[in-house]
Amino acid sequence: MGDAKGLKVTLWGTRGSYGVSGAGFVRHGGATTCVEVEAHGAPPVIVDGGTGVAALGRSKAAALREAIVYQTHMHWDHVQGYPFFAPLFDPLSSLTFRAVPRDGRSLGDVLDEQMTQPTFPIGLNQLPARLRFEDLDLKGEERHGALEVGWTELCHPSGSTGYRFEAHGASLVFTGDVEVRQGCMERLIDFSRGADVLVMDAQYFPEEYGPRVGFGHSTPLDAVEVALRAGVGRLIMTHHDPTHDDERLDAKLALAREAARGEGLVVDNGRDGMVIELGARARMELDVALESARI
Ligand SMILES: [Zn+2]
Ligand SMILES: [Zn+2]
Repeated sequence: MGDAKGLKVTLWGTRGSYGVSGAGFVRHGGATTCVEVEAHGAPPVIVDGGTGVAALGRSKAAALREAIVYQTHMHWDHVQGYPFFAPLFDPLSSLTFRAVPRDGRSLGDVLDEQMTQPTFPIGLNQLPARLRFEDLDLKGEERHGALEVGWTELCHPSGSTGYRFEAHGASLVFTGDVEVRQGCMERLIDFSRGADVLVMDAQYFPEEYGPRVGFGHSTPLDAVEVALRAGVGRLIMTHHDPTHDDERLDAKLALAREAARGEGLVVDNGRDGMVIELGARARMELDVALESARI
């Protein structure tokens, strides 16, 4: 990740449910969920394999040969890009997939069924890459070099895992899919406490939510409430509804910003290709201080 010694997060897919394209979707993009996390001194980390993972694999397959892939859950929009993820077809790749089993099935089982004839010509066990699938407990934490990873279970049909990443003094929470009004508002607030950035599912306008209670998603007002009560610095809304074009997403952002007005919270819409760099400056200042101390 160049010379920056912080946490760098790239949103490769910010759409929920299914991919979209066309003139109305140019600014925010239409690829489904995929997040890349880079930290100096840690292996590359990916969260979810929506269609965004195909573009990630194309852009830097060689750099991802030792990647660790965390999974929020196994709905289509979070796994449908894996069959087109270039590192799977690279014999030098050795990838580790970590996921909470869902409805009694591990991620390896689910991908095995997805990547088989007649839905896909190449089976999981025919791929050139070396793949390891590991089950996660519902909550936990672990460290990969400089990168600390924590996770917790959130409210969603069949369940979904939220992740927290910390490195070099910077922190980011990615909720994956979550409907906080199904009983996990307080858990998510605790989990997100003090994070620099919260990337959160805010799929529905409040007026759309009523008929969709139980579908597993939150609103911009829910996201602002979580962000404010957790004291995060910046909220980025994601899992955009496929029926929301750029104009509707501008309206969604205006609604969230209005709700956060005067509270010192920065609010943005996630968009495909968005890069969030955290902590690099603080770390550089520390390096300068250490260097002076040596002299
Ligand atoms: Zn989803
Ligand atoms: Zn889902």
